[in-house]
Amino acid sequence: MVLSKLKFTEEQQILLQNITRLMEKYGEEYWQELDKKGEYPNEFVDQFGRNGFMSIPISEEYEGAGLGIKEASIILEEINAKGGNAQPFHGQYYLSWLISKFANESIKKKYLPKLAKGEIRMQSMALTEPEAGSETTKIKTFAKKQGDKFVINGHKIFASRVRYSDLMILVARTTPYEEVTRKTDGLSIFLVDLRKSKGLEINEIKTIFNSQTYELFIENLEVPEENLIGELGNGFRHILYALNPERILLASESIGDARWFVEKSVEYANSRKVFDRPIGQNQGVQFPIANVYAKLVGADAVRWEAAELYDSGSQDMKRIGELANIAKYLASECAWEAANVTMDTYAGYGIATDTGIQRKFRESRLYKVAPITSNLILAYIGHNVLGMPKSY
Ligand SMILES: Cc1cc2nc3c(=O)[nH]c(=O)nc-3n(C[C@H](O)[C@H](O)[C@H](O)COP(=O)(O)OP(=O)(O)OC[C@H]3O[C@@H](n4cnc5c(N)ncnc54)[C@H](O)[C@@H]3O)c2cc1C
Repeated sequence: MVLSKLKFTEEQQILLQNITRLMEKYGEEYWQELDKKGEYPNEFVDQFGRNGFMSIPISEEYEGAGLGIKEASIILEEINAKGGNAQPFHGQYYLSWLISKFANESIKKKYLPKLAKGEIRMQSMALTEPEAGSETTKIKTFAKKQGDKFVINGHKIFASRVRYSDLMILVARTTPYEEVTRKTDGLSIFLVDLRKSKGLEINEIKTIFNSQTYELFIENLEVPEENLIGELGNGFRHILYALNPERILLASESIGDARWFVEKSVEYANSRKVFDRPIGQNQGVQFPIANVYAKLVGADAVRWEAAELYDSGSQDMKRIGELANIAKYLASECAWEAANVTMDTYAGYGIATDTGIQRKFRESRLYKVAPITSNLILAYIGHNVLGMPKSY
């Protein structure tokens, strides 16, 4: 399936070929086995790290490849389009951009070269709390300054990959909600070195797919002062900086999923014979596949435009925000529709466990919810782009 590939430079074509080749080693059996056992894709993540793919967002100054969101998108899309799950990569990519932009020099020197070489992992971000899901500013986890460190107490939920990361980004209040003039003030970002940290109870949350997401109880977790990322109290605005790239990356994973579903559907629609003809000859089977493919091409075009504008260094944050949010919305909705179309096409064999359809079906549901729900993206478009009243 072609999609944005038409616009790739020669280097991007080579990058794509490398990923396609590597993914041959990680076929359906690999992902099914992990899914059954609920295990993290250690071998896959380490191999991609050794091959230099964790270095994409890190500048050459810190031994990275210094590439852009377009290259990151190509990698993530292709992993998902070949049946894999690129979640550990998007985690590490957008957090690497965040650290590169806001961390102090000593943190950058200490961690970025190791992250670039795949020697350590930073794939976890703890923001969501039980009583503050979509309403981020209501988080209660609190970081109190004590001498040359911060002492953190609180409760986080759905913090993914904590057990498989060396470093975690944690967002906490440093001024209580009730004491700030603007509710977005008083939030700060901390880098937690999980290898050394005491005061974290980590409990797994069972989900409908193999996600490795956790509830965290934080009690007197000590973080050195130098691990404060960016300005004290300005964390909300720093997080916003990383959100646009994150939206584009997630859109790329959903586009990869949708490609996988469309390819599987076409293949089966052409080969499965019922009533002595391929099922794809029936418009009831063919049109839903054609319909979702048309939507996929649309989502891909917006995703690529968002990535190009971001990589161009444009300061038009309003337009970047609009495109990144729309790309994530269109792509995640499209992947979920494609998942359902594929289920209908395969009928009983979609529900059976050995075709991989039901595995991808469960996985592709996530991006309609996390890190932001489709409703909240529509609220963003309605208010920030179209100028209608805010609902919250
Ligand atoms: C597998 C998984 C992994 C995750 N990983 C992470 C992670 O690594 N780090 C992290 O911090 N978080 C993570 N999350 C959390 C995720 O970001 C949240 O689930 C998400 O932000 C939604 O919050 P919520 O579930 O509390 O829903 P709520 O905020 O409770 O919303 C419930 C429903 O109400 C709707 N709603 C609420 N307000 C409005 C409104 N004003 N207008 C219209 N609709 C509205 C929402 O759209 C939604 O449909 C993960 C979640 C899952 C399931």
